[in-house]
Amino acid sequence: MDLTRYKRRTSHEVKIGATAIGGNCPIAVQSMTNTATADVEASVAQVERIADAGAPIVRLTAQGKREGEALRDIVAAVREDGYATAIVADIHFVPEIASIAAESVDKVRINPGNYRTSGGELEALIDKCRKRGVALRIGVNHGSLARHIVDRLGDTPAGMVESAMEFLRICVGENFDQVVVSMKSSNTRVMVQAYRLLVEAMEREGMTFPIHLGVTEAGNGIEGRIKSAVGIGALLADGIGDTIRVSLTEAPESEVPVAEMLVEHFQNREGEFEVLHPERYSPTEYRRRTAAPIVAHSEMTDDYVVVEAVSCNPTAEWRAAILDREDAAPVVIRRHYDGSKGEVALRAAADMGQLLLDGLADGVWIDAPQIAEAELHEVELMILQASRARFSHTEYIACPSCGRTLYDIEQALADIKARTSHLKGLKIGVMGCIVNGPGEMADADYGYVGAGAGRISLYKGKQCIERNIPQEEALDRLIELIKTNGDWRENE
Ligand code: SF4
Repeated sequence: MDLTRYKRRTSHEVKIGATAIGGNCPIAVQSMTNTATADVEASVAQVERIADAGAPIVRLTAQGKREGEALRDIVAAVREDGYATAIVADIHFVPEIASIAAESVDKVRINPGNYRTSGGELEALIDKCRKRGVALRIGVNHGSLARHIVDRLGDTPAGMVESAMEFLRICVGENFDQVVVSMKSSNTRVMVQAYRLLVEAMEREGMTFPIHLGVTEAGNGIEGRIKSAVGIGALLADGIGDTIRVSLTEAPESEVPVAEMLVEHFQNREGEFEVLHPERYSPTEYRRRTAAPIVAHSEMTDDYVVVEAVSCNPTAEWRAAILDREDAAPVVIRRHYDGSKGEVALRAAADMGQLLLDGLADGVWIDAPQIAEAELHEVELMILQASRARFSHTEYIACPSCGRTLYDIEQALADIKARTSHLKGLKIGVMGCIVNGPGEMADADYGYVGAGAGRISLYKGKQCIERNIPQEEALDRLIELIKTNGDWRENE
């Protein structure tokens, strides 16, 4: 990682159908459908809507044979309609489905947590991919690592990296380089550390696989956008990332302009900032520089100093200025932004998040006089929360939903937020399916998880408390559960 200036990490090119990522290709944006993949007509329509929104790569879940086979019809129909969009199959559990999907799609994503490294499963898939020119993504998710990894390294960034490296080494051994890798988490600090550790591990072993970035379960609305911008921006700022997906619990096509804005934001990063004390910085370890309270700008006292970034590369500019300070005064980072509230929030989150995630900044100051003070204050608090520096709202860990979701998750999330958003410090998971939801809602205190058509299961931590209750009753029962456990407060 170059602390002084922006430089894109060196990666090799991987072809995904008519698109390519890595190498000198621009950073590609992508999204994922949330239709039932077996419903070919609905899935084709949604793939085309996502493509029309501007994404050259679209992923669909294939949880069973029916979905694996439907992919063939979906690819055929999309091509017939004149779309060259790269189609990706997302396989979580069954290696056999990956093999079926590889016969029709352009890329197959597998979760190494659910594959064995012995017995030749991966080698067989690689053979199949090589024959048709299909790319592979090794998609590691925090919360669904293989047992042997968790036993040895825990469900940690180091465990996530080892999980990917085991598979990447097999790919190298098989002389197959058409592989992309990802390390997703809903916890932005875990996610950023995992990607940075991955980059180090790949460099040590001479690997240049391109990287897919994403924050999982980011939620919706401005909060979901800010959380994605914090995690993805912290890495793009240092040239890490060849393709990105912004996951929102919204219509998938609404993810595309957000991702495009992020890519565009990192296009011009000129400037060089000498760092006199690089030993004060560790990209893979959280070190808070001071013990001062974390503040939004209106809460600043005279103890805080302000460091304003004015160059095209604010992240590196702030980092260099803070690392070189000889005093221990807490620092508020400041920058002026033009544009609408949504634009300002996304850009400020993308620039400022890294400094908070690394423990270098103690507060943020968004200078945007075109936006009302109270709204800016809210945005600043959301950036602090998304960067895990300070929690002032309920934290929602909501998956973007996919073909496995069998209830109206968008509406459910809106209803849950309306009743629980005052529960500061509480984490609530809102997940589409029982298969991946419980594992991937990470450290949520409570979980609202899709269990079947219109059915919900409720969790307290990792424990399922109520199974299969009708969606209409689920929110009241969730609140009851929060009350029973003493975590409820009335909204004053
Ligand atoms: S948790 Fe959500 S996005 Fe993940 S597989 Fe289940 S429904 Fe799909």
